[in-house]
Amino acid sequence: MSVLDLKEKSVGNVAIIGHIRPDGDCIGSCLGLFNYLKAVYPQVETKVYLGDPAPRFAYLKGFDQINTIFAQEVSFDLCICLDCSDEERLGDGKPILQLAKHSICIDHHVTNTRYAGENVVEPEASSTCEVLYGLMKEEGITREVAECLYTGIIHDTGVFKYSCTSAKTMAIAGRLMETGIDFTDIIDGSFYRKTYLQNQILGRALLESVSFLDGKCIFSVVRLKDMKFYGVTSKDLDGIVEQLRLTEGVECAIFLYEIESQIFKVSLRATGDLNVAEIAGYFGGGGHIKAAGCTMSGTIYDVVNNLSAHIEKQLKELTNSCTTE
Ligand code: 5GP
Ligand code: MN
Repeated sequence: MSVLDLKEKSVGNVAIIGHIRPDGDCIGSCLGLFNYLKAVYPQVETKVYLGDPAPRFAYLKGFDQINTIFAQEVSFDLCICLDCSDEERLGDGKPILQLAKHSICIDHHVTNTRYAGENVVEPEASSTCEVLYGLMKEEGITREVAECLYTGIIHDTGVFKYSCTSAKTMAIAGRLMETGIDFTDIIDGSFYRKTYLQNQILGRALLESVSFLDGKCIFSVVRLKDMKFYGVTSKDLDGIVEQLRLTEGVECAIFLYEIESQIFKVSLRATGDLNVAEIAGYFGGGGHIKAAGCTMSGTIYDVVNNLSAHIEKQLKELTNSCTTE
């Protein structure tokens, strides 16, 4: 029996929530589940809450029904948390979880803390959308649901290229394609296409990047004043860390953007055997082995120095384990 079998749960209303600053997998899984539950259980009142979703996902059905103001003091029969590794990352959604009579967490983060009543966590899955697909009945996977799930999968796999992509991921994507989705448009429109300003800030971040640890590490930062100058927000910075990671010789890419004066959101990406989930975890964040993040305070110099000490340590351990084998 699937955790999504609501008949077994006598549920009148459901709240679907994701993590703060929702990415493609978070928005795709939340709207995929929203459309699925509306199709399979039309009698159940289903609501989706997400903070400030990026307009590039507006083609997904249900995008216009996302509640960006979170319910307060409402006790839902069921709260389903998607793509969120811990309660703190639910942000303003945390009270919805705490007041709900029942809760389910569906996720794929290795750092997930199993904070809900029922937890379906598959760290080997490419994305939450992949986990969700496995919990859905075939007949409920309409074209609209497929568009959402496909979007989540391409975002968390970098369009099927990251090492989290498996034969199973491809098989699921193939099945989703059979519903008639316009996959070319989804991939270009939500993943690759950039606005003029997004390209400008990407260019600026690459131009100002700094290579260190013999080229094994690279970092760049976007400050609040830069965002103001270019007229962009954090949602326009997607893809910068990935471009840094693709620099030849780089084993770890660090991208920072300033949230408040001297408070930085940190994105870490690894190639090779580095484990950045461990480093992000040390600084109170989390994520996946090759893609993780955290929030750190101090000067840029402090933040990068603290991170690089951990990266250097791991790189040394990896070299030692190679030479002793
Ligand atoms: P990104 O660098 O794209 O923001 O995040 C990469 C991965 O790390 C995502 O899976 C994201 O959920 C996770 N992540 C990013 N920031 C944090 C954080 O502050 N805490 C936790 N637990 N996970 C994070
Ligand atoms: Mn995800």
